[in-house]
Formats: sequence, structure tokens, C-alpha cells
Amino acid sequence: MSNSSANRWENYYTPETVAEAVELLQRYDGQARVVGGGTDLVVEIRRGLHRPIDALVDASRIAGLNTIDQDGDYIVIGCGVTHSQIVRDVRIMRYGSCLSESCGVIGGPQVRNVGTLAGNVAHALPAGDGTIGLLALGGEIEIASIDGTRWIPMQESFKGPGKSFINRHREVLTRLRFKPTGTREGSAHHRVMRPQGLCLPIISMAVRIQLDENNTITKARISMGPVGPVPFLAESAMEVLVGGTASAEQFDKAAEAALASVTLRSSKYRASAEYREQMVRTYLPAILTRAVEQATGSTP
Ligand SMILES: Cc1cc2nc3c(=O)[nH]c(=O)nc-3n(C[C@H](O)[C@H](O)[C@H](O)COP(=O)(O)OP(=O)(O)OC[C@H]3O[C@@H](n4cnc5c(N)ncnc54)[C@H](O)[C@@H]3O)c2cc1C
Repeated sequence: MSNSSANRWENYYTPETVAEAVELLQRYDGQARVVGGGTDLVVEIRRGLHRPIDALVDASRIAGLNTIDQDGDYIVIGCGVTHSQIVRDVRIMRYGSCLSESCGVIGGPQVRNVGTLAGNVAHALPAGDGTIGLLALGGEIEIASIDGTRWIPMQESFKGPGKSFINRHREVLTRLRFKPTGTREGSAHHRVMRPQGLCLPIISMAVRIQLDENNTITKARISMGPVGPVPFLAESAMEVLVGGTASAEQFDKAAEAALASVTLRSSKYRASAEYREQMVRTYLPAILTRAVEQATGSTP
């Protein structure tokens, strides 16, 4: 497909294999760009935010990469999988609830029907919703280049706002994976946003928690955004939780630890710093409570 009249991209390719995709990228030697659903990239191109691109290489039609599969210990999501597919998947609903919830708040149905989780992660925005959900689950991503493929923890791919260590001119994020929540584990996500105007998130947070039989927290992951240049793992809050009992008091302490580790800025498009802090104090304990309810089948 050619788009030369708009002079934004010259050629559009729909490779059917990963090898074909990376060979195309190699052939264009940095002048091509990977595209998924195009809900970020094509919008940006049309707004003139990119130099004219020689070729778009569509990663969403690669055979075998538009499904969600169980593979050994992991749930594996191909780069062609849309947010709508994730939201409908009963395994993710049950064993990766925070991802299901986070993909479910993205845009409207039209955006979710074409936008991919791979595109959300590769775009590397500090508060990409699917990204925040997958980060709490301990997500990993597979990157393919002309030299082969490698898996990395997804947080290692974030370089800065909209900047990824994935070279989107030469590499394809092919698959994403996480270990499903198991016995006495639960997860949850919540986003606070101002619906008017630019629809920017005020705060997006996700948690994954594991408890032992005495309701002592044995594992915890908390992701947040936007609280800095990249999606954030609130490690000090995670440390506060592990070893303690799942309780409202403990969750309030975790919220304070999370707040102490970030600087929330006031933004005329989002909200005041004070309001955003209050949202963390309100909703981080709330999603921790929901995750515990899922893990134990009862309220802490
Ligand atoms: C109206 C509207 C509302 C939206 N609302 C939300 C929202 O509420 N929350 C939210 O998080 N986002 C939102 N978005 C942004 C967007 O829909 C999501 O980020 C989506 O997940 C992007 O996926 P995509 O497949 O469309 O990515 P694309 O636009 O195709 O690509 C995005 C970036 O990732 C790169 N890329 C894509 N796929 C790959 C791959 N497989 N390998 C390597 N690089 C790749 C591209 O080069 C580009 O840099 C919204 C967008 C619109 C237009």
C-alpha cells in the first residue's frame, strides 16, 4: 500500500513472518518503522510529528502472533493481539486481572479493537495503561532483530517518555508474557482520569500480591504512572508490604512509601499534585484490598 500523496510514508508492508519483518527493516536500514494498530503512530504521523517514513512494517498480521496462549509457566500474548482480545480472554481475566482491567480502560471500543498491547509497551509512555497492568504482573517482552530473538523484563525497555530501548526502526517486539497469578495471589488496576478534553490520566496504578495461609504478604509488585519519565515500579512500597500482614493499616503505609519515592507534579491538564497524592492514598489501598480479596476470597 502506498501513501505517497500524503508524503508521510512511501510503502506499507504486511509481513507474514518475523524473519520477513526484520529483513524488511534491515533492507530499509533505519528508514522504516514498525507499526501495530497505528492508533498512536499513524495519528502522530498525520499530525506531522514524524519525518516522512520510507516504509511502515505492520507487525499485527504476522502469522501466529495474533493469539494468546498458555506456554509452560507463562501466558504469552502475540504482538498482533489487541486490547479487546485481552479484555475478552477468560484466562487473563482470572489470572492477570490487572492487565484485563488496564486494557479495558484504553480509549473506546474502536481504539481497543485495533490498538495492541505490544504497541502500548513499545510506545513507552509513562502511563500507558496496558503497560502499567503488565508491569505489575512482572511482564517480559521478546524482541526480534536480524540477529535473533531475546526475552527481557519489560521495565528494561523504557528509556524516557515515548523513548524505548527497542529500536523501532530495526527490531520487532514479537511477544509479551507473564506468569499467571496462582494460589493465594491476586491483582488489580485502577486509573483516575479527567474525562474532559485531552483524557490524560491523573494516576494509573496496578498491583500483584501473594499471601501465605496466615495472610502475611509474601510477594508484592506495584506499578504506577505517570509519576516520572518511565512507567514506575514502586519498590519501596513493595518492600513495606512484604513480610507484613495484609491490612488496611499496612496498605496505607505502602501508599505513603510510594508517595515518598516519587514527585507528583501539578499539571493544568491533569490535576494538582495534592489531588494526585490524594488519589494514590485512596486508590492504592483500594486496589490492594481488591487483590487480597481475589487471593483469599475474603476482605482483609
Ligand atoms: C482516541 C484514542 C484514545 C486512546 N486512549 C488511550 C488510553 O486510554 N490509554 C492508553 O494507554 N493509550 C491510549 N491511546 C493510545 C493507543 O491507543 C495505545 O497506546 C495503543 O496500545 C497503541 O497500540 P498500537 O498497536 O496502535 O500502536 P502503534 O500506534 O502502531 O505504535 C505505537 C508505537 O509502538 C511502535 N510499535 C508498535 N508495535 C510494535 C512492535 N510490535 N514492535 C516494535 N515497535 C512497535 C511503533 O513504532 C510506535 O512507536 C489512545 C489512542 C487514541 C487514538
